[in-house]
Amino acid sequence: MPAAPQPSALPPSNTTPTSSSHETPKPHRKPLLRLELRDLSSSGSRAFLRLLHASTTLEDAVASVLSHLYTGLPVHCIPPTRSITLVLRSMGGVAYTTGLDIDDDHKEIHFSTDYINGVPEHRQKEEMQGVIVHEMVHCWQHNALGSAPGGLIEGIADWVRLKAGFAPPHWKRMTSGEWDAGYEKTGYFLEWLESGHGVDIVRRINEGLRECRYEEGEFWGKCCGKGVEELWEEYQKSLKGQEIEKEETADGVEKVESESGAESSKAQDASPSDPQDLHDSDQSHEDLHTKARRGGNMYIPVRSKPV
Ligand SMILES: [Zn+2]
Repeated sequence: MPAAPQPSALPPSNTTPTSSSHETPKPHRKPLLRLELRDLSSSGSRAFLRLLHASTTLEDAVASVLSHLYTGLPVHCIPPTRSITLVLRSMGGVAYTTGLDIDDDHKEIHFSTDYINGVPEHRQKEEMQGVIVHEMVHCWQHNALGSAPGGLIEGIADWVRLKAGFAPPHWKRMTSGEWDAGYEKTGYFLEWLESGHGVDIVRRINEGLRECRYEEGEFWGKCCGKGVEELWEEYQKSLKGQEIEKEETADGVEKVESESGAESSKAQDASPSDPQDLHDSDQSHEDLHTKARRGGNMYIPVRSKPV
C-alpha cells in the first residue's frame, strides 16, 4: 500500500532572516526631513521634481539605511540624528554630507544639480535614489569616533546602496588595489564577507565602530576572526576564475574621488596618490575642503559620471 501523502519538507531552518522580514528599526526620535531647492529652474532640480517624490524618497532612504545597519539592535545603537536636509544646488562633484557646526545631529546632504543634469535620462531616477541612499548612510553610520578609515566608511555607504538595489551598471568587482579603496570596491568586498561571516556582518562592523577607536588588527579579529588583509586576499582569490572585468587602470584614473572628515584629520589630510585625483580641483572643490574643516563630519565623494 502506498504511503500516505506527506507534507513537503519545510525550507531549511538555517536561513537567517533578511532585514526585509523585520520591521524597520525606529530611531529614538523620528528625524525631520527637509528639502531645499536653491534653483528651481535648473535642469537638475526639474529632473528631481519630475522623477521623484521627495518625501517618500527621503523616507525610503532612511528606512533602507536603518534596516540594513540597525535591524535587531537596541535603539540606543542608532545615532541621534534629528534632521536631514537635502539641498539641491549647483556645485562641482556629486554630493556630500555634513553635520551643522552647532549641532552635528542635524545633517545636510548637498547634491549637485549639475551632476543630475549630466546623467543620461534613463538612468536619472535610479542614480538620484542611489546617491541619496549613499549619503543617507553618512547621516546614520558610526565612524569609530572619527578614527575609522575613510574607505571603510565609503564602502559601507556603497554596500547599503548595493543592497538597496541601486548599484549603477558601471559598478564592478575589482581584484586589484587595497581593501579600503572605498566606494563600490570596498562595498563589494563587504558583500562577499556576508557569505562567510553572516548576513549581519556589516551591521556588526558598523556597531563595532560605535564607541571605540579603530584599531585594525583588533577590530577585524573581533568581527571576522582574522586580519582584513587576509580576508581581502581570500576575496581576490574568490573572484579569480569568475568573469570579472579587471580594473582597467590604476586607482584614481577611472574614478576621481576625494573625501574629508573634520573628525578624522588623517583621512582629511591624506593626499591623493595620483595627481589626477585633483585634476578637477577647481574652486568649488577647494571650497568643499575648506568647509569640511569647518563643518562636522563630511564626506565628499567626487565620482566620474556613469558611463
Ligand atoms: Zn560617501
